[in-house]
Amino acid sequence: MKNRSSGFWLRLLIAAGIVIFSLIKFYSTSEVNEITGEKQYISLNKEQEIALGIQSAPQMAAEFGGLSRNAQARYLVDSIGQSIVRKSAAAKSQYPFNFHLLADNRTVNAFALPGGQIFITEGLMSRLENIDQLAGVLGHEVGHVIARHSAQQMAKQELSQGIAGAAAVAGGDANSAYYAQVVANMVNMKYGREDELESDDLGVRFMMEAGYNPEALIGVMDILENASGGSNVPEFQSTHPSPENRRGKIREAIQKYRTKGL
Ligand SMILES: [Zn+2]
Repeated sequence: MKNRSSGFWLRLLIAAGIVIFSLIKFYSTSEVNEITGEKQYISLNKEQEIALGIQSAPQMAAEFGGLSRNAQARYLVDSIGQSIVRKSAAAKSQYPFNFHLLADNRTVNAFALPGGQIFITEGLMSRLENIDQLAGVLGHEVGHVIARHSAQQMAKQELSQGIAGAAAVAGGDANSAYYAQVVANMVNMKYGREDELESDDLGVRFMMEAGYNPEALIGVMDILENASGGSNVPEFQSTHPSPENRRGKIREAIQKYRTKGL
């Protein structure tokens, strides 16, 4: 009986140690984002983000049928993407942006790897009605890169894995680790939702700075809403802020940046 109880206290002590270590590691990575002005916790530096993005790009493209065979459309995607970066605050980031059109014409999706590798599928491209909507999709993805959401997500995952591990040690069984993981996922989910809203806001800002019509991003929400329901949930909606909620926030962002003179 005594043995059992001292084992418990030892486990608790080790668990507390793991939690403290994870927290110190997480909070020691704090830095202020030069473009969003936000304080954030990041475990990768910019060079690592860029290298990771460039390294993973071919594999990512291969998963969506490789690059589009339509050279003209490919050129259009890259030139609109580059113009958003060049004419907006995103240029200050110094990330080497590349915009890729993927051959997959059934998946309606767009996404960003850390460090500036951005993708849109032919499936989404073919549904867009004008250049401003394309600028909206790409501007939103540029927002994910600038706000360093992937790197932030990785730091949070390391933290929650540390805490989940600690719970398993303290509880002495796998079940508590399971529940800790469920909680960790919920935390990450919440951040994901905020990340989408922040990218919408940044997308609006970059569109306006670069001279595109920001209202077009609302049209993109309609297109995505109509396209969802299949097995492929667009990245844009992967963390489910409701489209209605997002449209409202986009309108607020347009108003906010107009007041600032954009
Ligand atoms: Zn997104």
